[in-house]
Amino acid sequence: MTLRDERQGVAILGSTGSIGTTALRVLERQRERFRVAALTAFNNAQLLGEQAARFQPGFVGIVRNGTEPHANWRVGAECLVEAAARDDVDIVLNAVVGSAGLDATLAALSRGKRVALANKETLVMAGALVGIACAEGGGEIVPVDSEHSAILQCMTGRPGVEVRRVIITASGGPFRQWTPEQLERATLEDALRHPTWQMGRKITVDSATLANKALEVIEAHFLFDLPYDRIEVVVHPQSIVHSFVEFVDGSVLAQLGVPSMELPVLYALTHPDRVADTGVPQFDPVASSPLTFERLPAERFPAFALGVAAGRQGGAAPAVFNAANEAAVALFLAGRIHFSDIGVAIAGALDALAGLPGDSRDTIVAADAAARRHVQERFGC
Ligand code: NAD
Ligand code: MG
Repeated sequence: MTLRDERQGVAILGSTGSIGTTALRVLERQRERFRVAALTAFNNAQLLGEQAARFQPGFVGIVRNGTEPHANWRVGAECLVEAAARDDVDIVLNAVVGSAGLDATLAALSRGKRVALANKETLVMAGALVGIACAEGGGEIVPVDSEHSAILQCMTGRPGVEVRRVIITASGGPFRQWTPEQLERATLEDALRHPTWQMGRKITVDSATLANKALEVIEAHFLFDLPYDRIEVVVHPQSIVHSFVEFVDGSVLAQLGVPSMELPVLYALTHPDRVADTGVPQFDPVASSPLTFERLPAERFPAFALGVAAGRQGGAAPAVFNAANEAAVALFLAGRIHFSDIGVAIAGALDALAGLPGDSRDTIVAADAAARRHVQERFGC
């Protein structure tokens, strides 16, 4: 007789990335509660192979295989949905970067699974559809993003009507104090030097343009069903306070901690429970002092206001914002455009593609493709 494995099965989509490798460190310590059921990556076959050997998942998928044939691996973009939909998977940690993660999120939610969501781009591009997939399939989204994890931790157990406002914190990125003239000359190396977080390249650039904060405002709108007027952003350079929630009686709760994604990843797996873990260094209020807060310098970072305006507009506008940003960041990372062109590219795509419908998966995917084409053509690549 074999004993049934009572541990929850976790699929990690994007296991070779910054969040994916963080998640595997967490799961290594939490082997009694969770087993790694599936792993997927884009093209880093070597690291994926090492992870598979260590965690022995039932499913391994890679989008682009190199030269090495791996007999039991699934190859191709469909491996994400396959991993997310498996019967032995209870929780899908979506740590893919960009819109490529959309179908896997929808597949998991519509099968009643928990999605621990790092891949904020898919909630931004298709928040309403994701909400429908949750409602129809019985799945749930638990955020991995540190700010949204903080908001969830502050709100847990209280009904939404008791929340007056949320205030999302932003580190301000590497260019917080740069003048417009300095920003004109910002290099890729400058943009990749984030002051408080070690992350993948795309989100690091998003943090430098503040597009990431706009994505997070839209993410909060969909996750917590809050109107945009009740979502604010404040710059907090130390990244210790991960966000605030103000309640209707005027009380304000915040969640604090040394910047580390280990806690938000673990909490997304265990919410609403807390389990003992050693991933986060102990908090020392004196060593963390002083904690300071500043107004967001929106006038120097156009991507922020463009993104929030796209969120408020709704329809396909958030998908256009997200896709134009992804395309522009890819060009910036490839050394093909300047830092300041990212905002120009986003503004151009939102102008040219205003009013597109975004009421189904197909219309959203079409808007995403149109925005990418627009940016490519605008910069002649
Ligand atoms: P990363 O670039 O380090 O890793 C991305 C992972 O996704 C890799 O495993 C890669 O193989 C996979 N991937 C990339 N393109 C893919 C594609 N087209 N199809 C399938 N798989 C693909 O990125 P990251 O920093 O880990 O970020 C992942 C997500 O988490 C992003 O949405 C980011 O905004 C979000 N996030 C990251 C952090 C952080 O600290 N890194 C914090 C908050 C939110
Ligand atoms: Mg964040």
